[in-house]
Amino acid sequence: MRGLPGFDEAAFVQVHNSGERVTSLRINPAKMQDTFLQKKVLQSLSTAPLIPVPWSQYGFYLPQRPSFTFDPFFHGGAYYVQEASSMFLEFAMRQTCNLEQPLKVLDLCAAPGGKSTLLQTIISPDSLLVSNEVIRARAGLLADNISRWGAANVVVTNNDPRDMSRLTGFFDVMVVDAPCSGSGLFRRDPEAVGEWSPENVTLCSQRQQRILADAWPALKENGILIYSTCSYSKEEDEAILDWLSAELDADSVPLAVPAAWNIVTTVSDKRNAAGYRFYPDRIQGEGFFIACFRKKNGDAWQSRKQKDTLTALPRKERDKLLPWISDADQLFFMEHQGEVILLPEAITPAVAVLQQQLYLRKAGVKAGQLAAKELVPDHQLAMSPLLAPQVQKVALTKDQALQYLRKEDPALQLSAKGWALMAYENMPLGWAKILPNRINNYYPKELRILKEI
Ligand code: SAM
Repeated sequence: MRGLPGFDEAAFVQVHNSGERVTSLRINPAKMQDTFLQKKVLQSLSTAPLIPVPWSQYGFYLPQRPSFTFDPFFHGGAYYVQEASSMFLEFAMRQTCNLEQPLKVLDLCAAPGGKSTLLQTIISPDSLLVSNEVIRARAGLLADNISRWGAANVVVTNNDPRDMSRLTGFFDVMVVDAPCSGSGLFRRDPEAVGEWSPENVTLCSQRQQRILADAWPALKENGILIYSTCSYSKEEDEAILDWLSAELDADSVPLAVPAAWNIVTTVSDKRNAAGYRFYPDRIQGEGFFIACFRKKNGDAWQSRKQKDTLTALPRKERDKLLPWISDADQLFFMEHQGEVILLPEAITPAVAVLQQQLYLRKAGVKAGQLAAKELVPDHQLAMSPLLAPQVQKVALTKDQALQYLRKEDPALQLSAKGWALMAYENMPLGWAKILPNRINNYYPKELRILKEI
């Protein structure tokens, strides 16, 4: 690392040896429009006032790491535990994109979903986020995290970057948080040091080029590319900026970063493309690198005559769902394999295109299955702000909430019956069906808390 812009060997070594751990999270404003609840959530994590992450409207540092597993707010999607440097994506997006506009955004390497949940928070409600992950099991984890976040304007796909070339000129913004050699996380994960090698840096650099070249056609002319890694290696950072400028004819977009933040501005050797380096001895966060580009030339998206469009739920069936859903007039009710999926009207044409071209793991919010007489509501609906406020709720204490999240019976004495939302401090956690002598716990088995206190 000697000779890299901003590298201070003594301070770098010292901070890695210090054992210091920085914990930060980003709140989910969609779940906490009520500032009272927001305060309650933050106070439950720390009695001391939380320090904001300078480059994010929603990020906070915690003075110590609590047990998130035993916090019902975590399971309700009130926040996402995210490393602070990564939250700089918010600042980069605000400087390079008009976030008031409806945008089509691709997060190409998205699992487990840190950047995607951030992007979903800052884009407008009629924008579309395509959150893609190539590795199948990781795409499942990504879908769970997106469901917990509760957003309707996200599609989770499980595709290789090369499949994106079927969508020429489709996206306004492309975020490539590339797989990398991971040196930026050495402080947090010292075991990763053993897996590092110069050969792996070279392999990662080649893979980063391949990923970018494969997905590049899907970005429209004048579209924005945001590239990031958690590596310090020049081969994966500045050299990729040179490669992007030379091979893809991408225009570097410098950012105006306040000097007080101590982020190091760097430029690539050959093309003077701007990038930003984050060192743990200079900032409160881990190692990170980010750079922005504009696509100079490219083909525009040609909307072809659709072979298939999305299948609308028949009106009669749709009416049965209305008591469950708020803002139904702005939603498209889609029928898919016996289930009902809710999509914001504004994104349905784009989702119809994606359905033809990619493997969709999840789209919008699954409302549930329509059985003969009733809706069997899905967990995604419980986690979504689309759920109607009048749906029956049961307020749980913290102990009861944790029992519910373990998929145990919280032994409630209830006079109500039928489907009810289990909630902790007004934050929905999932469904239960209340029967005369017991409740059936519908919390998804695969999400339940397994860890003992
Ligand atoms: N953006 C994520 C976040 O903020 O939570 C982290 C992404 S991680 C740095 C890189 C991701 O790229 C991993 O999920 C990994 O599975 C995926 N990946 C690995 N090989 C890939 C490839 N050849 N093409 C695209 N993605 C790949």
